[in-house]
Amino acid sequence: MKNWAANLTYSSARTERPRNLAELTGVVAGEPRVRALGSRHSFCDVADTTGVHVQLDLLDDGRPALEVDPETGVASVRAGLRYGEVAADLHAEGRALAAMASLPHISVAGAVATGTHGSGDGTRSLAGDVVGVDLMTATGELLTLRRGDADFPGSVVALGALGVVTRVELATVPTFDVRQDVFTGLPWQALFENLDAVMGSAYSVSVFTSWYEPDVRMVWCKSRVSTGSAGGAASTTSGPAADLLTRLGARPAVGPMHPLPDVAAVACTEQGGVPGPWFERLPHFRMDFTPSLGEELQSEYLLPRTAGPDAVRAVRALGDRIGPLLLTSEIRTIAGDDQWLSTTPEDSLAFHFTWKQDWPAVRAALPELEAALLPLGARPHWGKLFTVPVADLPGLYPRFGDFAELAGRLDPTGKFRGGYVAELLAG
Ligand SMILES: Cc1cc2nc3c(=O)[nH]c(=O)nc-3n(C[C@H](O)[C@H](O)[C@H](O)COP(=O)(O)OP(=O)(O)OC[C@H]3O[C@@H](n4cnc5c(N)ncnc54)[C@H](O)[C@@H]3O)c2cc1C
Repeated sequence: MKNWAANLTYSSARTERPRNLAELTGVVAGEPRVRALGSRHSFCDVADTTGVHVQLDLLDDGRPALEVDPETGVASVRAGLRYGEVAADLHAEGRALAAMASLPHISVAGAVATGTHGSGDGTRSLAGDVVGVDLMTATGELLTLRRGDADFPGSVVALGALGVVTRVELATVPTFDVRQDVFTGLPWQALFENLDAVMGSAYSVSVFTSWYEPDVRMVWCKSRVSTGSAGGAASTTSGPAADLLTRLGARPAVGPMHPLPDVAAVACTEQGGVPGPWFERLPHFRMDFTPSLGEELQSEYLLPRTAGPDAVRAVRALGDRIGPLLLTSEIRTIAGDDQWLSTTPEDSLAFHFTWKQDWPAVRAALPELEAALLPLGARPHWGKLFTVPVADLPGLYPRFGDFAELAGRLDPTGKFRGGYVAELLAG
């Protein structure tokens, strides 16, 4: 079996898709090596095992797929569901997630296990909005960990190393509507000098570039609008994002745009300022379309927000080197959270790279990118491709020792270790 991008063939002997908790317990307790596999969207071997993979997409744990607590708004969801499968039902209950990743097809448990995030100065990673997990540990017992429990900060961004998460509790907010506007041609100098203002010009902002073009290719602005605007006609481009970006020299896009140049935007969520519910605007791609054939590779580095202007200049200086290898690249922002293995422990800037699927060329370029970004405090995304030695990763996380102790306590035989996570926890 291969991952989504087909750049990795898993080493597992077989894959089990248990239909109930008893079947899951049988696999987890009975096998010496097990690893949960989500929707296979990671580009590296973070989810790999030489033992048995378990996928939870068919798992019925005896409770409704989605339960919303009317008092707290906390949504309890089956962990194997994809975010896009949860979102519409949540909206129907009058609730929303504060953020979504670019793709709604990614599983909830798999996304939060690697610190997956969207964009927005005020929105945390998807893991940062988790308030509880049900975890099947090595013996097959179910353990519930909630915000406030001593081990909780180790239990969400956990790389599959603690066990199999069967349910996830998500903090929600009242549902809201969003309009998406795209701007093109922002001059580089304007971005250098106004990075924080550009990234803060809407609820969620993404800057797309290939770093060697004469100007910044696109800025996607997702702005909250008053609830109930959905279903209305396209509004004229106006508001804080448009005011700022046009003043800085950008222009409203003349039609719908795809993140990749010269690709039709049919798979993208609606643009052009048409208001719609949060889950149909915050992801870049629509749930009912396959966004691409997967012929790409991804890397991503997350840095403290304070390093942002230096980091943008440093990557731009590498534009001629990395630009020809890129399909596109994206700058995003994320608010900090308190997970021990969080790549965004403080307000952060993310540099995402979608590469052509040429691993030898990308692998040769990554050390140069990492040499520019690591001194500025960068951490590689746990689910993407990087060349930082695995042995150096613990040094990037002050609470790594606490995480390793928790993993050793819950999984003393290392049943849930595989791929590079085995090496990470070996030291
Ligand atoms: C097209 C595309 C777009 C993407 N967009 C974004 C984005 O916008 N933002 C971003 O940050 N990342 C993004 N990613 C990266 C992606 O979100 C992460 O790699 C994520 O971890 C993939 O989740 P998955 O369900 O596919 O998990 P997998 O890749 O299958 O597994 C990832 C990890 O989760 C663990 N895991 C899975 N299920 C469970 C479970 N039930 N219990 C315990 N552990 C589990 C696995 O063991 C493994 O360690 C994107 C990837 C692709 C291919």
